[in-house]
Order: sequence, then structure tokens, then C-alpha cells
Amino acid sequence: MTDLNPGPLDAADPLAALRDRFVGADTPLVYFDGNSLGRPLRVTADHLADFVRDEWGGRLIRGWDERWYELPLTLGDEIGRVCLGAAPGQTFVGDSTTVLLYKLIRAAVDAAPPGRTEIVIDDDNFPTDRYIVEGIAAERGLTVRWAEVDRASGVTTELLAPLVGEQTALLVLSQVAYRSAHLADVPAITRLAHDAGAPVLWDLCHSAGVVPTALDEWEVDLAVGCTYKYLNGGPGSPAYGYVAERHQDSLRQPVQGWMGHADPFLMGPGYTPSAGIRRFISGTPAVVGMLALADMVALIDEAGVDAVRAKSVALTSYAVELADAWLAPLGVQLTSPRDPAERGGHVTLTHPRMREVVATLWERDIIPDYRDPDGLRVGLSPLSTSFAEVESGLAAVRDLLSD
Ligand SMILES: *Cc1c(COP(=O)(O)O)cnc(C)c1O
Repeated sequence: MTDLNPGPLDAADPLAALRDRFVGADTPLVYFDGNSLGRPLRVTADHLADFVRDEWGGRLIRGWDERWYELPLTLGDEIGRVCLGAAPGQTFVGDSTTVLLYKLIRAAVDAAPPGRTEIVIDDDNFPTDRYIVEGIAAERGLTVRWAEVDRASGVTTELLAPLVGEQTALLVLSQVAYRSAHLADVPAITRLAHDAGAPVLWDLCHSAGVVPTALDEWEVDLAVGCTYKYLNGGPGSPAYGYVAERHQDSLRQPVQGWMGHADPFLMGPGYTPSAGIRRFISGTPAVVGMLALADMVALIDEAGVDAVRAKSVALTSYAVELADAWLAPLGVQLTSPRDPAERGGHVTLTHPRMREVVATLWERDIIPDYRDPDGLRVGLSPLSTSFAEVESGLAAVRDLLSD
């Protein structure tokens, strides 16, 4: 195991001190998977223990009136303010990303005028997004219009323009491609869709918490994202959804449960959706699952999302620099955008031996992701990752490939 000695890049990093707030920061383990499952914050362990003792254990059912009932909306507002560029009343927390994709895509296509019968999605979008779109298309008799993307790149206005028109009901796209980290031009693509009269749902799973967005300013219609990646909510923490205020009262989501009712405690006959964002909630929210992510949102707020993005760019640029110097001569290819302005928070490096390299790295406490075909994904969660980790991890890749 390599010792991680902070070099000049860590010494110059204004956010370096925040790394100590994470569990495990004091070990030599190299973590390149914070984009898949973020590390927990130390303070979260205390908050969870306090919650069990004082709030759940002490307040019992009174907790619902005191905080929990509103938590999906108050925490949604915080995520919106800190990470999304969304004014209050448009973001909610609940369900998984997969379920929220279903709810919001169904709501959007159900509201589309007659004749708008196509959903546009790229063929390299995350599997769950593609499967949900295929399922809804089958359910509603719609057609999926596949945009064929280059797997080392991602969706662009040039690629999408010919596929979008008066037949389009909705576009479903990811801001950051999970494979290549290609960063889509959200405002330009959203304008393209609006010029054709269609709304867009943006999946922010690989961007929220690392790439700032301005959902309100960009006039985004709908968005969803998960909270266990760069928002460090822990395995299975609930997702969030964004519905622009102008759309809320005209959309009806398909999982119409009691918690989204206009008056849940009336327990009356028939479903009347709540006004505003609450109608997108279905059932009892996962309160315990929201505690860890609230801590991370507070830390991102403390650091400032622009500073987080600046460190992210520095980390991915350093990884590209080391890959060029050490790994390109061994036949490794960069399958992420080279321009940091077009890149999210990770870097994918491709080589025919990467599957076996990743397996060996895991045995040595160096934890990247493997993504077919032949891709080693270096996920760099800015607040919990040091430049020394990048150096040590990529040196190990070099040594294994030189054998
Ligand atoms: C991680 C991820 C998901 C995950 O969906 P879950 O329902 O949380 O399993 C969905 N879409 C994208 C683009 C992702 O990156």
C-alpha cells in the first residue's frame, strides 16, 4: 500500500481541509467511486445516533408534525438552492431515481398534446432511463426516438436537432453521461426542445453536487437525480425531482398516493392532487434516508458549489495529465472529453486489460469502477478526494499495465 503524501496540488487546494470531515479519510485507501457511492461524513454518524435517541425515540409520532412531513419539501428546497439553481417550491425528495423517472416521464407524456407521440432519448443513457422510457412508450403507444451517441462523448444540439419536432412529446437526457462524463449543454438543448414545442427531463444523477446547474434560469422543465452519488446520502437514499412551477398544476403523476393528496389526513374518498410540488409525492417519505444527504448538502453549501466545481475540474485535469504521461504510452485511451468545459466529475480510461486491472486494484484497496467496454472509471468526488489519491491510484494502474 502506498502512503499518501500530500503534494503541492493538495497544499494549494483551498478545500483540502474538508476531506478530513469524511469517514475513512485517514486511511490510505484510494477511492475513485465517490460518483457511485459517496463516502459518509463523520458528522452523519452523530446525527443518526441523535435522531434515533432524541427525534424518533423521543418525539415518536409527534415527529411527523414537527419535521418529517415537510422534510421532502424543505430538503428539496435546500438541494434546489445549493446545487440546482432552483427557487423554493419546485424540488422534492422521495422514491428512487427509477421511480421518479417513471412518475415524471409519465406525467409529461400524458400532458402532451395529441400528435406528439415520440420520446427522444440517447442510446447510451443510463440503463434505467432507457428501460423506463421503453416501458412507458409500450404502455402509452408511443415511439422511442433513439439518438445514437458516441460513447466517448454525449448528446449535443447537432445530434438532437434532426430528431426533435412537432411529433416530440418529451426529451429524456442526462446532463453528465455516466460512461464518458460528457457534459451536455443543458441551456442550448433545452432551447432546442422548446423551439420545437417539447419539454425536456434532465437526469442530474452524475452532476448534482459537482456540476452547478441553473435550472430556473435555463427554463428546464423537469429534472431528477439521485442522492447517494455526489450528495453522499448513503446506499439507497431517496432521489429528488424538480418540476418547474409553471408546469406543476397541469401535470398529474401516475402513482397517486395519499401523501400527495390535497388533504392527506382527511383520508377521504377519491384522489384530489395537492396544489404545487407536493402532488409529486406518493407515500410516506424515507426520513432516515434523508439525514445523511442533508449533511452533505450543508457541506457543499459551506464550500460553495462553484468552488466544488473548480476542484472537480482540477482533479479530472490532473487525472488526464497523468494518464497522458504514464498510461497513453501503455496503450490506454482517454474515453472522456479532453476539454474540462465539456467534462463532468469523472474520467474514463480504456484498455483491453482494464477488467483484470480493476479487479487487482480492488484487492489493493484502490477502488475505481469498471464499465464495459474495457473502461476504468476514475470518479473524483471533489470534497472527499485528494490529488495524492489520484497520483497513487494512477501510478498503480501504470505499474499493473507495465507488468
Ligand atoms: C445512478 C443513476 C441512476 C440510478 O437509479 P436508481 O433508481 O437510484 O437505482 C439512474 N440514472 C442515472 C443517469 C444514474 O447515473
